[in-house]
Amino acid sequence: MVNMKKSAIVFDFDGPLVSSGWDKAIHILFSSFVACWDTGFRKFLHPDNLEIDINKMIHGLVKYPGAPRFQQLSAVVSCIVRNIPEAVKNPCELGVDEELQKEYEKLQKRYNEFYSGLNEAAARLFWRPLPSVKKVIELLSKDYDLYVASGIIQEILERDFDHYNFDRKLFSGIRGSDSAGTIDKAEILKQIKNNGYQDVLFIGDSSRDLEYAKKAGVRFFRIRTEDDYARLMNQIKDGLPDEQNVWEYTVQELAIIKSKVLFLMKAYASGKRPSYDELTTWINTGSFSS
Ligand SMILES: [Mg+2]
Repeated sequence: MVNMKKSAIVFDFDGPLVSSGWDKAIHILFSSFVACWDTGFRKFLHPDNLEIDINKMIHGLVKYPGAPRFQQLSAVVSCIVRNIPEAVKNPCELGVDEELQKEYEKLQKRYNEFYSGLNEAAARLFWRPLPSVKKVIELLSKDYDLYVASGIIQEILERDFDHYNFDRKLFSGIRGSDSAGTIDKAEILKQIKNNGYQDVLFIGDSSRDLEYAKKAGVRFFRIRTEDDYARLMNQIKDGLPDEQNVWEYTVQELAIIKSKVLFLMKAYASGKRPSYDELTTWINTGSFSS
C-alpha cells in the first residue's frame, strides 16, 4: 500500500466503537428463548419455573461472546436441550428426534428475525459511540493505519459505520464477516497483519476478542468504558500496549443480565407481546414507554 504507516490499530465495532452495554447479552438470551417458545423446542422449557431455563441458558452465553449469531444461538439451545454449553454445527448433534431437527431451521429463522428486530430498535434509540471515541480515532490516525474488524456481516457493518457518522477517510479498511459466517475476526486480523505492518494492536471488548488476537499473533487492549480510552492514550505514548489477561462476566453483571431476561421471559410466556421499541426501552430504562 502507498504511504503505509509502520503499525496498525484495529477496532472491534460493537463495544469499542459503539457502546451497547449488556443489551446484546440480553438480546441473545431472550431471542433464543422466544425462538424455542415459538417452535417445537418449547417442550424443553419450564413455563412454571423459568428460573430453571435461564440458569441453564446463561452458560451458553458466557462461552460465546462476540461470536457469529447462529453459533451463539446453538450454544444456548444446547444448554436448554441437553445442559451442555457447546455450539453445534448441525442440529442432529443436539440429540433431538428427526422432527425437531427439521424444525431447527424454523427456530433459526425466528431467532434471526427477533434478534435483528431488538438490535435495530436498540441501535436507533439507545446505542451511541463512546463520547471520546471520535477524538481518539482522529488522534491515532496521525500515527497509525486504522481498521475495523467485526463479526457483523459486511453490509450491516458498513451501514452501521455510516449511521454513527464515523469518518471513512480516517480508516484504511472496514472489514466484517460474510453471511455464511466463515470469516472471523482472527482471519481479518491475519490479513491486516500480512499487509506488512511491524506491529498490530486489536482493540476489543470480549475475552473471545483476546483469543482472536492471540490466534492472529497481534497485540490486544480491552475497552469497557470511556476510562479505558484515557488509559490507552496514556499507555500508547510508550508504544503499543498488550494486555493478555483473561476475564469473565462478574457475578453482579450476570445477576443483572439474568434478572432482566427472566422478567422478559415471564412476560412472553404469559402472552404479552411488546414491540421491539418497547422491549429495548424496558431493557434500557426499566419501563415499557419512554
Ligand atoms: Mg465486541
